[in-house]
Amino acid sequence: MKQVEFWFVVGSQFLYGPEVLETVEERAKEMAAELSKVLPYPLVYKVTAKTNTEITDVVKEANYRDECAGIITWCHTFSPSKMWINGLAALQKPYCHLATQYNKEIPNDEIDMDFMNLNQAAHGDREHGFIAARLRMPRKVIAGYWQDEKVHKRLADWMKAAVGVAVSKGMKVMRFGDNMREVAVTEGDKVEVQRKLGWQVNTWAVGDLVKEMNKVTEAEIDALVAEYEARYDIATDNTAAIRYQAKEEIAMKKMLDREGCRAFTNTFQDLYGMEQLPGLASQHLMAQGYGYGGEGDWKVSAMTAILKAMGEGGNGASGFMEDYTYHLVEGQEYSLGAHMLEVCPSLAADKPRIETHHLGIGMNEKDPARLVFEGKAGRGIVVSLIDMGGRLRLIVQDIEAVKPIMPMPNLPVARVMWRALPDLTTGVECWITAGGAHHTVLSYDVTAEMMRDWARMMDIEFVHIGADTTPEKLEEELLVKDLVWKLK
Ligand code: MN
Repeated sequence: MKQVEFWFVVGSQFLYGPEVLETVEERAKEMAAELSKVLPYPLVYKVTAKTNTEITDVVKEANYRDECAGIITWCHTFSPSKMWINGLAALQKPYCHLATQYNKEIPNDEIDMDFMNLNQAAHGDREHGFIAARLRMPRKVIAGYWQDEKVHKRLADWMKAAVGVAVSKGMKVMRFGDNMREVAVTEGDKVEVQRKLGWQVNTWAVGDLVKEMNKVTEAEIDALVAEYEARYDIATDNTAAIRYQAKEEIAMKKMLDREGCRAFTNTFQDLYGMEQLPGLASQHLMAQGYGYGGEGDWKVSAMTAILKAMGEGGNGASGFMEDYTYHLVEGQEYSLGAHMLEVCPSLAADKPRIETHHLGIGMNEKDPARLVFEGKAGRGIVVSLIDMGGRLRLIVQDIEAVKPIMPMPNLPVARVMWRALPDLTTGVECWITAGGAHHTVLSYDVTAEMMRDWARMMDIEFVHIGADTTPEKLEEELLVKDLVWKLK
């Protein structure tokens, strides 16, 4: 997403004369340039809009230009908002209203009516806010001084969520085989998902992957194994298993890149012609920003890729996760998350080790190599997208990850331990009440607010379980939302 930029559209009108408009334009350019130095993506000043045509034109261009991931508006002066209706009604890109002003302080001696006419964002931003409310526009409102760090952080987070929208709209998921038999939560309406989120979710035969694997050369494997050796500690003598994983990774990456897919799924129930479930292979692909979902879970796979893109540097600390088992000792209540093999090394506290172990589940002829590590401590979220029949629900829960409280020397997979908020058991009750899946995306650098922004932009239901959630309030919220989303 290197090419991404955001556009700064400033509202005004002709009433104040050319000098005021010149000042507005100069300041807007200065603000865009200064903000671009501290935000993760450039903010490009586009226009001081004074007419319906100027606004409609900039919106049409924003819709058309792929590099524009969203617009940020602000009204330095009053900008009568009937002239925004045609433009805003046509807007197809994420929209943030920055309610700020150029000056931080009211200048006691200097202030007169000229100053008031030039610096009336308190006035202009309300008119602008009304029309967006009146048009039922999905938007983010951020109020505060434009040079404050808090404002920068919130703008940055919104930009990252908007990048998540762009990634979602271009998302292609490669399914190697179908979903695991009989599982409900990994199913979903692919047509509805494409309409709402833009995802193209299609299947490829495992046999085609095996054909691609057979074309991988020893030299290609040597090069990838050298990369494994540089990034990970080798804690196995089973070189053949590592080389086999490298072969799987190379073949999968070629197929993904050829089709423009940035997410994939497979299932242990369909590895026909393969000796090992891809473990290390899937983990190292995730480390490069690809999404993954086990057991054919294409929803969690695409969400993994989207959250990664929304994270730090465009490939953040987010990965496919599964709730496995609990520690229910009073005062030490934790959830232990892992997967059969496929936990992303971006979640690791330390350098991961490559190990090989027997895997009893599935069609593994040989012991698969995988990365084993402990997850980082710190605040995070877990995210689940479920299909409610007729609509999608995004559930986000705040978590506190800890260093696993015991070494678990015989557990042959990467593991993350956390406490769900508000506390483990209440959090579990809320999660289960909302219908959250056992598969999630766990993220250390994407926040619940960013996911709320993303869900608003995608026009899907959003449920947040955090420190203040109670099962009673949540039950009522879900009841109301069920009605609202039936009407929408
Ligand atoms: Mn699973």
